[in-house]
Amino acid sequence: MNILKDALLKAGLKPTQQAKAPKDENHREHIPKKKLTETVVHQEQRNFCEECSQVRPDVEFYAHKNPTSEAEWICLRCADQLQILDVCRRTAQSDVSIKRMFRRGYGATVRDIPITPRSKNAGPVDGNR
Ligand SMILES: [Zn+2]
Repeated sequence: MNILKDALLKAGLKPTQQAKAPKDENHREHIPKKKLTETVVHQEQRNFCEECSQVRPDVEFYAHKNPTSEAEWICLRCADQLQILDVCRRTAQSDVSIKRMFRRGYGATVRDIPITPRSKNAGPVDGNR
């Protein structure tokens, strides 16, 4: 028997997979689902000034009524140029605020806006999101 098998293999015939027990056709391997939702916080910290269209470390949200600008997330320099008072500021989320170096050039700087720290599980903010 083995002689015949060897002869057939030499002749180029390949052995079939019949040696293994055939699988049940309807049987599927159980592949566990990945966890679908991991909480990813988007736009944790904003640093894009809507007025000058630049990425700046001192962008804050201003609820202002200045008719010359529709921008709300404004950098320090633009807020000074637009003469928006610091009482209109609603956030203290920028890097400059976190370092407590936020100083307004136009008008007084409001001190008691709570700084919103970044959450611990948030990755580095690189702007590529
Ligand atoms: Zn700006």
